[in-house]
Amino acid sequence: PFDVLVVGGGPAGASAAVYAARKGLRTGVLAERFGGQVADTVGIENFISVQYTEGPKLVNALEAHVRQYDVDIMNNQRATKLSKSEQVELELANGAVLKSKTLILAPGARWREMNVPGEQEYRGKGVAYCPHCDGPLFKGKRVAVIGGGNSGIEAAIDLAGIVEHVTVLEFAAELRADAVLVKKANSMGNITIITEAQTTEVTGDGNKVNGIQYTDRKSGDSHHIELAGIFVQIGLVPNTEWLRGAVELSPRGEIIVDERGQTSLPGVFAAGDATTVPYKQIVIAMGSGANASLGAFDYLIRH
Ligand code: FAD
Repeated sequence: PFDVLVVGGGPAGASAAVYAARKGLRTGVLAERFGGQVADTVGIENFISVQYTEGPKLVNALEAHVRQYDVDIMNNQRATKLSKSEQVELELANGAVLKSKTLILAPGARWREMNVPGEQEYRGKGVAYCPHCDGPLFKGKRVAVIGGGNSGIEAAIDLAGIVEHVTVLEFAAELRADAVLVKKANSMGNITIITEAQTTEVTGDGNKVNGIQYTDRKSGDSHHIELAGIFVQIGLVPNTEWLRGAVELSPRGEIIVDERGQTSLPGVFAAGDATTVPYKQIVIAMGSGANASLGAFDYLIRH
């Protein structure tokens, strides 16, 4: 059996594995796809001390760092069930069962997509999901934010300080964001909010985004807005469906952790975008992976 078994090969999982291995613990990493969301990222400019890198390059560096230690990497394997008796037992999609004294859950999350024509084609070419990451790329330009919940209105306020103009498109008749955020957005002067708007297509010139098409759900009329960027903010979904009933999840499906990364199940820790940590970023995921791993080490020396 492992001392520490990590589920997830993104920045949180890789960091947890390095910290565990450096304690001399028997460490394994299970990943459906090593690298996680970082593998889908083009430019990264906020990984502190590295002024610019690209997703695939950072994934290679993560893997090289983990492989520097005696870590058992099981890539292209999916965990489907977690249970605990004396040890933690993890069932895989291929039927195998892995046993470990402690477990670190770092299965990450995925952005909900609009599923309209042009979205995939222009992903990273104007279609973005992270305002903290890509906002500065649209300095002085016109952008749209899709979604009028808290994350959408927060994104609009954030972007309004950088870009020329922000249009928020909300599907429902009312914004779901907190009143204080809506008030702030309305006071900013360069944010236009359109409700009852159904996005129908991302348009572009073949290389990059040049606009968005939407239908006014009240009148049925179709409209086109010219812009350079589209931030999709309709939800970040944690990859925790398989953990329901095994560890305590928040109403949004995030794994509830304490300050040591401990979940509701003793010996099971969690880190990164799949947890209740409020901000989802690479540098934060790595920090929380290290934190959970030290939490697991602390647990092991007491049991
Ligand atoms: P993830 O990176 O999501 O990794 C999860 C890992 O778990 C993967 O290996 C996955 O295959 C695995 N996994 C999931 N479920 C299972 C299972 N059941 N069994 C086995 N393995 C499983 N952040 C920044 O700081 N800067 C940026 O510039 C930036 N740009 C971004 C651009 C895009 C397009 C996206 C999508 C995200 C971006 N982010 C950026 C956010 C950043 O990528 C995430 O915050 C970070 O990757 C979270 O790390 P994580 O390890 O928690 O999860």
